[in-house]
Amino acid sequence: MSANLYHDGVDILHGQRRLWSFHGGIHPPQHKHESTNLPVIRAKLPERLILPLHQHIGEPAEPIVQVGDKVLKGQMIGRAQEFLSAPVHASTSGTVVDIGDYAVPHPSGLNATCIVIEPDGEDRGLEHPRVGDYLQLAPSALRNLIRDAGIVGLGGAGFPSYIKLNPGKLDGIDTLILNGIECEPYITCDDMLMREYPREIIAGLRVMQHALQARVCVIAIEDNKPEAFRALHDAALHEAGIDVILCPTVYPQGGEKQLIRVITGKEVPANGLAIHIGIVCHNVATALAVHRAVQDGQPLVSRYVTVTGGGVSQPRNLDVAFGTPVRDLIIQCGGDPAAVKRLVMGGPMMGYALHSDAVPVIKTTNCIIAATEADIVPPRPVMPCIRCGACADACPVMLLPQQLYWYAHTNDLDKVQEYNLFDCIECGCCSYVCPSNIPLVQYYRYAKGAIWIKEREHEQADIARQRHEFRLDRLAREKAEREARRRLKKASLAKNQDNTPHTEEAVDND
Ligand code: SF4
Ligand code: SF4
Repeated sequence: MSANLYHDGVDILHGQRRLWSFHGGIHPPQHKHESTNLPVIRAKLPERLILPLHQHIGEPAEPIVQVGDKVLKGQMIGRAQEFLSAPVHASTSGTVVDIGDYAVPHPSGLNATCIVIEPDGEDRGLEHPRVGDYLQLAPSALRNLIRDAGIVGLGGAGFPSYIKLNPGKLDGIDTLILNGIECEPYITCDDMLMREYPREIIAGLRVMQHALQARVCVIAIEDNKPEAFRALHDAALHEAGIDVILCPTVYPQGGEKQLIRVITGKEVPANGLAIHIGIVCHNVATALAVHRAVQDGQPLVSRYVTVTGGGVSQPRNLDVAFGTPVRDLIIQCGGDPAAVKRLVMGGPMMGYALHSDAVPVIKTTNCIIAATEADIVPPRPVMPCIRCGACADACPVMLLPQQLYWYAHTNDLDKVQEYNLFDCIECGCCSYVCPSNIPLVQYYRYAKGAIWIKEREHEQADIARQRHEFRLDRLAREKAEREARRRLKKASLAKNQDNTPHTEEAVDND
């Protein structure tokens, strides 16, 4: 399949299924082959596993173990607190040695609460019940099982999967898309997973189909992953209602809205969700996790992680237990942590720099890029915008990035919202093509942060105003009540005086 069939705005026929295109997109150097030459191996367990209670979108889990407790692999150690939350499980057997604040993977570099486990080296697992025939289970029971297994979107977002497996008020959804696009440079963990577990991924897809009562299923893979495509294509050969589609490689095709457009030609409405148009997308690794939870009773305790970049001599994919420090992975891939000058979690387009190599791998960690001094390209000088429009041509959301930049730059937070700042998926296509080297996405992130702070301040000001008004009301009411009591007392005293005979008068009358 060749990418030159892929023309902006032109429908094309790609195999049996018609594919559409989305506006913009770019073709950055792939750097994928570096990490696919070696087979995937299991990463060694570290001396201590650091398991953050917040590895997903939503509320953090709440610890249900104490320091000194012995735990088994797969045992729940953090319970989901709210609807939008996910439990956390021990990723090996051992002893809980601490519950406290540790560095976690987050752009802020802040610490968060973690449960620390010292492995006992036995890797003993907890026996979980197996479902057997999941078709006998009601979709809601399946969703509960997936929730209790701690499964979240493994494509990087970390949204609790059981919520996205609920068709809501619909009887069922039309199309379930399994996203095997993996469009960011350097990342190859889904590629390797698809090559190695095609049947299990399809089995997980069937479970998801049952939970969603989906009519058709599509597995989408970019054409820079021919081995993965072949593996899934062959595994699905005799499966009814599953299309395995090869899509021309373009970034950011793995974005949910972009992929839905390519596969179905439909647009997810602004401020709307895919399910509103009868479509749900899940990642291929999430499907595998669902299969393991249902078939083997395994909660989510590990994942494939790409470890790559000039800072490691053997870039590859590792099967990593959650909680393993990044530093250990660099050493296992032949790197010297002291020589690594920059660490990125995720890809070069949408990932973020890590503040420390002590942070652990969590559910959303798909890739670690270790860069040495030699890999770091000195930043090019930023020049004024020449209004060339290249950023608008590249934007997959059809925004006007130069206008967004202008208003973010001048701190005009109302205007930047008028230009739909919050539709920006921070894909970085605009910055990538900008001839003036303007770090556009950084301006958008800054503006989003400033708007959130302003909204919080407004909310707090509203709360403070309501409290102040309430206090004034209360003081006025208390004053009125005091006045009423005083008047009542005065009236009562006056009445008593009227009813009591005057002493001198009484004496006189006697
Ligand atoms: S690509 Fe850069 S220089 Fe060109 S319009 Fe956009 S912001 Fe301005
Ligand atoms: S980062 Fe935002 S504005 Fe820039 S191309 Fe991507 S979606 Fe468009």
